[in-house]
Amino acid sequence: MYQLPKLSYEYDALEPHIDAKTMEIHHTKHHQTYITNLNIVIEKHDVLKNGDLKDTMSKLDSLDIPDADKTMFRNNGGGHLNHSFFWEIMGPKKAVDEQLVEKIKSKFGSVDTFKEEFTQAAIKRFGSGWAWLVDKGEELEVYSTANQDSPHLQGHTPLIGLDVWEHAYYLHYQNRRPDYVKAWWNVLKLV
Ligand code: MN
Repeated sequence: MYQLPKLSYEYDALEPHIDAKTMEIHHTKHHQTYITNLNIVIEKHDVLKNGDLKDTMSKLDSLDIPDADKTMFRNNGGGHLNHSFFWEIMGPKKAVDEQLVEKIKSKFGSVDTFKEEFTQAAIKRFGSGWAWLVDKGEELEVYSTANQDSPHLQGHTPLIGLDVWEHAYYLHYQNRRPDYVKAWWNVLKLV
């Protein structure tokens, strides 16, 4: 059974960029709901219950289980993976990952160029989803996914991810997703 991971910082630690109420609801309600539903679907199939969640996600298409349960796992397993990762890469203090910065410079030319490409992916995602920087094994790529689709579905490793569901920003930013994305770089620890 999966459980809600504790955050390594307080709900108000990311203010003024992300407000405490948004963080609390996002963590205790939204993330918890993905976990609750993930636990329901994994109880139905040993193939979902056993093994590593990321690994199972990457093999999901090939599993012999009903499509409805695949969808439930994709949405809620993805929701759990995505949010667990998201909390970890944010924080009140920068902890720059120099190796990641070097990889980004090598691929995109500069950190600013990468940020612009990532920002566009985040802003242009229609409806709910995520923007990602992923490691595809041989190279890095920026893209976005719909809903709670995880890069692990494609066997990609997320390096940076941004939740652009309205629940991630609506209380403070209302419809202004670009303002949220711009502010979010301040609480991303890695670059
Ligand atoms: Mn979310």
